[in-house]
Amino acid sequence: MIKPKLPLTGGCSCGAIRYRIDAFPLLLYACHCTDCQRQSGSAFAMSMPVTTTAFHIAKGAPKPWRHESRGAEGTSWFCDDCGGRIYGERNTRPNSVNVRAGTLDDTTWLRPAAHLFMRSA
Ligand SMILES: [Zn+2]
Ligand SMILES: [Zn+2]
Repeated sequence: MIKPKLPLTGGCSCGAIRYRIDAFPLLLYACHCTDCQRQSGSAFAMSMPVTTTAFHIAKGAPKPWRHESRGAEGTSWFCDDCGGRIYGERNTRPNSVNVRAGTLDDTTWLRPAAHLFMRSA
């Protein structure tokens, strides 16, 4: 994986929500499961787990959407204005948040390390 410059910054399409990440992502993968297809409205979603303590909302207040995903309870955080999904949390993984990599300001370095759920790709 190409190492980007820290901190990483990003936000939703309308700019109401901005975030900052102070540590390198733990992983970067493209998920092709049907949940991600539906939620992203495209063929797959780029997910980027980062350590919870390294993730900071810099501006705005995302709205939570609680739901069940593959047997675990999760919360998706999105912008109330433009509806853009920014990151997700899962109660089975309290130490990391799953950032939608497509919301980063600089996406040029993104190279997924893995592709998941290729059956529904
Ligand atoms: Zn927005
Ligand atoms: Zn998925």
